[in-house]
Amino acid sequence: ETLDRGLEKTKQTVVGRLAHIIAGKSKVDDDVLDSLEEILITSDVGVDTTLKIIRRIEERVARDKYVSTSELNGMLREEIASLLSENNTSDNDNGNWNLPDNHKPYVILVVGVNGVGKTTTIGKLAYQFKSAGKKVYLGAADTFRAAAVEQLCIWGERVGVPVVKQQMGADPASVAFDTLSSAKANGADVVLIDTAGRLHNKVGLMNELKKIKDVLKKITPDAPDEVMLVLDGSTGQNAFEQAKQFSAVTQITSLAITKLDGTAKGGVVIGISDQLRVPVKYIGLGEGMEDLQLFDRTQFVDSLFG
Ligand code: GDP
Repeated sequence: ETLDRGLEKTKQTVVGRLAHIIAGKSKVDDDVLDSLEEILITSDVGVDTTLKIIRRIEERVARDKYVSTSELNGMLREEIASLLSENNTSDNDNGNWNLPDNHKPYVILVVGVNGVGKTTTIGKLAYQFKSAGKKVYLGAADTFRAAAVEQLCIWGERVGVPVVKQQMGADPASVAFDTLSSAKANGADVVLIDTAGRLHNKVGLMNELKKIKDVLKKITPDAPDEVMLVLDGSTGQNAFEQAKQFSAVTQITSLAITKLDGTAKGGVVIGISDQLRVPVKYIGLGEGMEDLQLFDRTQFVDSLFG
């Protein structure tokens, strides 16, 4: 229900306007498809992904000769679900907080610019993993801002998980190394490492992330298991831009999209996942500890199209 509530505005924009354009029309024609295109673009699905969806629907319309407008909602829903599945975005059966057995500790390196909800997402993830019975370690490798370390420590206390940190300005790779070493020595199941999201210094960021990855590999050859990019879903096209810029800096393997509660821009989830070819794994639906969900493409399209 949290998801339904969160996506309500996006749903109103997409489904509400779709109902409006097909009212009084029986057949899906070029006009209907043009209006659909406009709706998707204004819902922040993004131009390229919108065109891809429209093209697929056009092909079906051409093949079937006659498609009734009452079928359009279902078609749209199918195409969106299939786009999400092409990027390995998970379905229902993955709706638990299990981790692969053979990757202990499972290491998630968290990247994203300040303000998107990175620290909050790490705190919420720590809470979920801990609630699922896992031993969690946090690493404060954003040594650039004192506030970042403090915030992470506050979340660590709130959730009841250790935070590994060093003094301000310390080498982030050294913090990452310490974190994974302690986590491993203490039998942790999952490690979440916060990093500084300084996109304005791309070369610096690229080197910093590379160095962090290299030291993690010294301890566990396949670490990090995930490089998770946190994006603020309520910023729509800005989130798109950040996604592109970050993927030029390092290889992103999962996405967490925050602040989907109450935004009409929920369409970004579809576009970003499609453009980056990276699965959306987690979605933020509020400021509280429990307001994070594992993304589920079936639930997502169900919430969007009712
Ligand atoms: P950071 O600078 O990226 O670490 O961002 P923070 O984690 O400090 O979050 C910035 C603000 O966004 C805080 O006020 C959070 O409470 C808020 N926030 C984070 N995630 C969500 C979310 O999913 N929904 C809402 N409504 N607010 C969020």
